[in-house]
Amino acid sequence: MTRQKLAVVTLWMAAAGICFAQPIAISVHLVDQYGAPKSVAAAARKNAAHILEAAGVKIDWQDAATPGGLTLNIVARRTVPTQGDALGYALIKPGSGNGCDCAYLLYPAIEQSASAWRADVQTVLGVAMAHEIGHILLDSNQHSASGVMKADLANAQIAKASQGGLIFTAEQAATVRLQIARRHPGSVARPTEK
Ligand SMILES: [Zn+2]
Repeated sequence: MTRQKLAVVTLWMAAAGICFAQPIAISVHLVDQYGAPKSVAAAARKNAAHILEAAGVKIDWQDAATPGGLTLNIVARRTVPTQGDALGYALIKPGSGNGCDCAYLLYPAIEQSASAWRADVQTVLGVAMAHEIGHILLDSNQHSASGVMKADLANAQIAKASQGGLIFTAEQAATVRLQIARRHPGSVARPTEK
């Protein structure tokens, strides 16, 4: 997105009353088809939520699919002939906004990467969740040179994630928030209680 486009997006959001100070909520249904340890899945959800929080997005984890929400599936292997990322893939139709709004996390690949990077599985799984959610909400399979949407996530991104420093770029965050607002007009969440 160019600076001009970002300015237009920011103005649109201001006109729509979407304030960056308030998080905007998106519902995410997590389906564990693989059977990952519950503690790992729970910690990964928190890690993914922290990355999205930095972009001004609050994840509302749901026990069932909801209209306008996303679905993340933890699976053993790739089940559709798509390239995707090494750790997962999102099924989207770039530009249409009419994808299935679902993504898949390849648990064995995530476990292997975590072992190779000497990282926690929950950290790598959380980063992969945030990355694939990013693909859906950015409505694109494109990657960026740095941050959570980097093409080949590696040690450096995982280390940053464990320190809370892995983020969406400002432009990506603005686009993600805009896409959520388009799905759910009036979906600005109440400030999180602390
Ligand atoms: Zn990717």
